[in-house]
Amino acid sequence: MYDYLVVGSGLYGAVFAYEAKAHGKSVLVIDKRKNIAGNVYTEKVEGINFHKYGAHIFHTNNTEVWNYLQQFATFNRFTNSPVANYKGELYSLPFNMYTFNKMWGVVTPEEAAAKIEEQKKEITGEPKNLEEQAISLVGRDIYEKLIKGYTEKQWGRDCKELPAFIIKRLPVRLIFDNNYFNALYQGIPVGGYTMMVTNMLDGIEVRLGVDYLEKKNELDALAEKVIYTGPIDAYFGYKLGYLEYRSVRFENEVLDKPNFQGNAAVNYTDRETPWTRIIEHKWFEFGKDENGNDLPKTIISREYSSEWKPGDEPYYPVNDEKNGKLYAEYKKLADGEKKVIFGGRLGEYKYYDMDAVIASALEMSKRELKQKELI
Ligand code: UDP
Repeated sequence: MYDYLVVGSGLYGAVFAYEAKAHGKSVLVIDKRKNIAGNVYTEKVEGINFHKYGAHIFHTNNTEVWNYLQQFATFNRFTNSPVANYKGELYSLPFNMYTFNKMWGVVTPEEAAAKIEEQKKEITGEPKNLEEQAISLVGRDIYEKLIKGYTEKQWGRDCKELPAFIIKRLPVRLIFDNNYFNALYQGIPVGGYTMMVTNMLDGIEVRLGVDYLEKKNELDALAEKVIYTGPIDAYFGYKLGYLEYRSVRFENEVLDKPNFQGNAAVNYTDRETPWTRIIEHKWFEFGKDENGNDLPKTIISREYSSEWKPGDEPYYPVNDEKNGKLYAEYKKLADGEKKVIFGGRLGEYKYYDMDAVIASALEMSKRELKQKELI
């Protein structure tokens, strides 16, 4: 009998498994995929660490989380500075002086601020949705060219029907700074995320290709307690209805040339281009292999966003009001499952970044492992 069965070997599961083992507990980790690391999984393709389930750029303001991760990986100095391609016009992201200069020809921060002020006048009162929030942050021109098309492709919904908070993830700056994140610490683990998670799971039993929900009773009988990081609605057989998720389909291509787009991420912000962005994975590690040699080929991924349907991989929870209410109902059921702890992006139906997932797993671990020792 294990103390813990951890369902899912992504960051939440791996952090808890590591902590439980460190506290002398026995742990079994299972994952329905053939690989560990959940959506942060990377694999080597043509010498490049390929982010198979979408690009992951670690960034955080949480010193505790940053220090914690250093025991599992060394991070490189990658700084995310995506480029937006609107019908062939290129703009710097996030919204900063380079963007404003290209959009309006303004040169000083005062001129840029005045442009935004003038354009945001159309919004009076508290922004009620993503469209109003975006216009009040950067004005209508930027909304139309760099936000509207991308967001509607990404979420499959009108910007008026999306919550304002999604766009607040992006910084707006009156300085020349293309760093996408307002974060003290940022980088990509040298050797890839899979290596980092492998280090977290060192010495822990892991069974791959095991679908928990298919053999729930049998697996539950193996452990005192379960840490479940899959979708909360799937756990309950969708009995209250489906929570909505966005899924992503990747079209990957290896190209026999060293440089396709000159940047890790290019966002296609018009409505007509069917993909949302193209990732060129080698630039997360400056186009070099682990010995510092230039890589002759490149691998790119076009990302197509779609509404999740049963059988697809869920990526993004759709945190609007309707889904929030349904999640609250599922949460009540989850609270009644005394043997199970629900965690992570899917278990908590939250648009968590990696650092927030780690912080949440650490917090839960502290609570859970201390409590056990008191008994
Ligand atoms: N967004 C946008 N234009 C861009 C990039 C992002 O309008 O070029 C908006 C879009 O609504 C997106 C949100 O900002 O959903 C958050 O973007 P982020 O890059 O944080 O999303 P993620 O990397 O998690 O997919």
